Amino acid sequence: MILHIDMDAFFASIEQAINPRLKDKPLIIGSRANKMHTVVCAASYEAKRLGIHSGMPSREAFSICSNLEFVAASQGKYIWTSEQIFELLKGYGFSLNYASVDEFQMDLQDYSEPLQLAVQIQAQIYANFNITASVGIAKNWLLAKLASKINKPKGITLIDESNFKEILSRAPLEKLCGMAGKTGQSLRAQGLKTCWDVYLNLPEFFDANPGKFEETEETQKYPKSISHSYTLPRAFANPQFITAWIRLLSEMVGERLRQQSLTAKTVHLWLNGPQIGNVEAQKTFSMATNDSYEIYLRSLKIMARMSKKGHKIRALGVTASGLSRQGYLPLLVEEKRREALVKAVDRINARFGDGTIYPSQVILTRR
Ligand SMILES: [Mg+2]
Repeated sequence: MILHIDMDAFFASIEQAINPRLKDKPLIIGSRANKMHTVVCAASYEAKRLGIHSGMPSREAFSICSNLEFVAASQGKYIWTSEQIFELLKGYGFSLNYASVDEFQMDLQDYSEPLQLAVQIQAQIYANFNITASVGIAKNWLLAKLASKINKPKGITLIDESNFKEILSRAPLEKLCGMAGKTGQSLRAQGLKTCWDVYLNLPEFFDANPGKFEETEETQKYPKSISHSYTLPRAFANPQFITAWIRLLSEMVGERLRQQSLTAKTVHLWLNGPQIGNVEAQKTFSMATNDSYEIYLRSLKIMARMSKKGHKIRALGVTASGLSRQGYLPLLVEEKRREALVKAVDRINARFGDGTIYPSQVILTRR
C-alpha cells in the first residue's frame, strides 16, 4: 500500500499557525510583497471558499474579498517546515519520498494497519506544527495521490476494490495527477468527465503510475563541488570586465549543476591578483539553487564582502558546494517562469552548441 500525505493549504496554514491573528481568516500568500501586483501562490481554506485560488492575480482576489489578509511568501520558512515534516515521517521507518514541497509518499509494502497509521501521522503533524494534512491510501502512487484529495482538509481516504468505482465515478478527471492541463482538457473535449471515465477508456494510464518517485537521495552518487576557474592573459582592474568573468564562470557552474540535476547552497569565490595574492571566501545561503544568474548574484555578494574592488585580478574561480539532488519544484510563479527560461536556454545550447545563447554581459569577456 502507498500512503500519500498532502498538507492542507500548506503555505497559508503555516502563516496562520505562526500568526494567530490570521487564523480562520481568508488569507492569500503572494509571490511578491506588493499585495495588489502579485499572483496568489496559496490561499487559506477560508479564501478558497470564496472562490479565490492560486494562480489568480491578487487584484482579482481583493475584488472578491476586500478585507482579505495578505502575507508575502517566505519560501525559506515553508521549505524548513517541509523538511521538518519529512524528518518526522522518516521516523516511521517506511521508505519515504517527496512528491512536492507539501506532499510526501510512503511505501507501506504489506503493512496491515494503514488507516491507523494515517490517523497517527495526522495527529503527530498537528501536534508538532499546528497544521493539518490529508492522507490517501491506495495500491499505487497515482490512486493514493487521488485519494488524498477526496476529503480535504483533514481527510483520510482509502481506495480499495470495494469503493474504487464509486470514488472514481464521483471525482472529476482533473483530480488525477497529470490531468490538470492539456491532457485533461482534450479528454473532456472527447466527453470524458470523471476519473472512472478515464479508467474505462485509458486503463493503461492507471498502470503507468505517474507521480512515482525515482531513487532516494542516499542511493545516488554525485560530486562534492562543481567549480570553474580561469587565468586571464594579464592582470585587469576594470570591474565590469572582472564581473563579466564571474558571470561567465557562474554560467558554466550553473549549467553543470543543472546537467546533473543538482542544486547548491554554498558559493565560493576565489580571486588572485598581483596586489591581493589569493583571496577566497564563501557563503552558504538558505535556498539551494542551480540558476546561473543566482550563483552570479551570490558571487557578487561574496566579492562585496572581500572589498577588493578596483584591485587588479589575474585569475578567478567560482565553486558551488553543499550539493544535493533537487527536492523541490519552483514554488512561485516568477520562479516557474525563470525555470522555464533557463530550461529553454539549456535546450538550445545542448542542441546548437555551448554558447549559442548567453547573457549579454558575457560579451565583455571577449575583449
Ligand atoms: Mg497540499
